[in-house]
Amino acid sequence: MSDTKEFDLVVIGAGPGGYVGAIRAAQLGMKVACIDKEAKLGGTCLRVGCIPSKALLESSERYHEASEGVFDEHGIKLSKVALDLDTLLGRKDKIVDQLTSGVAGLFKKNGITRFHGLGKLAGNGKVEVALEGGGTQMLHAKNIMIATGSEPTTIPGVELDYDRVGNSTTALSYPTVPEHLVVIGAGVIGLELGSVWKRLGAKVTMLEYMPTFLPTVDSEVARQAMKAFKKQGLEFKMGVKVTGTKIEGDSVTVTYEEKGETKTISGDRVLVATGRRANTDGLGANEAGIEMDKRGVIQVDDHYRTNVPGIWAIGDVTPGPMLAHKAEHEGVAAVETMAGQVGHVNYDAIPGIIYTHPEVATVGKTEQELKEAGIPYKKGKFPYMANARAKAMGETNGLVKILAHAETDRILGFHVFGAHASDLAAEGAVAIEFSASSEDLARSVHAHPTLSEIIKEAALDVAGRVVNI
Ligand code: FAD
Ligand code: NAD
Repeated sequence: MSDTKEFDLVVIGAGPGGYVGAIRAAQLGMKVACIDKEAKLGGTCLRVGCIPSKALLESSERYHEASEGVFDEHGIKLSKVALDLDTLLGRKDKIVDQLTSGVAGLFKKNGITRFHGLGKLAGNGKVEVALEGGGTQMLHAKNIMIATGSEPTTIPGVELDYDRVGNSTTALSYPTVPEHLVVIGAGVIGLELGSVWKRLGAKVTMLEYMPTFLPTVDSEVARQAMKAFKKQGLEFKMGVKVTGTKIEGDSVTVTYEEKGETKTISGDRVLVATGRRANTDGLGANEAGIEMDKRGVIQVDDHYRTNVPGIWAIGDVTPGPMLAHKAEHEGVAAVETMAGQVGHVNYDAIPGIIYTHPEVATVGKTEQELKEAGIPYKKGKFPYMANARAKAMGETNGLVKILAHAETDRILGFHVFGAHASDLAAEGAVAIEFSASSEDLARSVHAHPTLSEIIKEAALDVAGRVVNI
């Protein structure tokens, strides 16, 4: 082992939480090291998560539009539409390469020292790196930030061979379009990657344990979304418990229980999308005395401090939604606190998006949550169908729904189902962050013709003065 290297901050994990936190720390004048066991920087999000899945969603939607005659009404006649899956997958890989090497460039620009290897807490402000090329390197810092993210999970009876039965990473690179893809778990990953392969020609069946579809999404939005996804041909079996899988040649039989009966379904590929777990593998968190819950999630206080002085944790490895932007903001807030500033994340204003077509966006409280908490509220809604731009775009399926406090008019919930919901959600997040009222949104000038006018109309509807319907 070579001599111990000294830093102000050692970040373990270069995902969106770790790499953004490292850059912010460097901006604040800290000498920063960032360790990641993978060759490509950017974590789950850039390598095998947000970015490759969105590249596939984009390409598959274009293929679907071209092959299903969506351009016909525009007077655009296409013939011989064919899928070149290798090029489609290659485009995704190129985007991942560009963005992950972009992070390496940002590290260079900000003077961050990168270590390629597995980081292990070694006590007294030390981290030992088992270097990828062999050997170890000891690092020492006043502060250590754990940003080791999450890993896919599986369920009892389902063993992954990462070919016929795989996880989200496997489903980003199937070498051929499955004939029948069986998806276990109709959550975010199941819906996004299920949509990709459906659009490319697979039959897709989703097996979901919960009887309710997307329970954390506003139930009115979830109902509309389910209707649209069924119309697209995704098949759902809700309230079923998968108990096992058996691979025989190119075929997989999935066994599940439905209303007390044991049933089977066969497909040529199975995607296990039943959630992710906090990743502390090889980190030495137990030996370091770091408090974790029984699922291995690292416990932190409001400022991202673990129970061990000088050790902080952020992102997917800590409680809360597993989202790239949540990790990013926590990374920034944690290092700002280390630097004596007031780092803060507003958990009431974190958008959650499902990038299907149409998209689903949730910011703040759902109607069912407000009801359960006994909070009095007013609601306003406006359909995409009545918006001029949506008509011009041919994107008339969807709605914006705004929930505001019945007495103060403060916006508590902002929900969208429709095209570009992910971009419209930003207005909801800003409104909630600024404690805006629905009146504030209704009086803000929205350009015409834009989808954002749906938000203005929904805000007007809260006060019962919607115009264009
Ligand atoms: P991660 O991104 O998981 O990064 C952790 C890093 O730590 C990894 O690079 C890992 O190699 C490294 N590491 C772990 N242990 C060690 C160790 N001991 N030593 C060294 N390095 C270590 N979120 C969104 O907000 N929007 C999306 O559209 C979206 N799409 C997704 C699609 C898919 C298919 C998946 C799987 C996830 C998606 N997510 C999305 C979730 C998002 O990827 C995560 O919430 C986000 O990456 C979490 O960031 P993080 O920094 O906490 O951890
Ligand atoms: P999820 O929690 O969204 O969905 C998992 C689903 O699997 C749930 O509906 C659950 O009820 C179901 N399930 C669990 N056990 C089951 C069983 N035995 N049989 C059938 N169904 C079962 O998790 P995910 O889709 O795996 O995604 C993991 C994480 O990654 C999520 O926290 C999500 O936030 C994040 N992610 C985010 C995005 C995005 O922001 N667009 C995209 C992908 C992933």
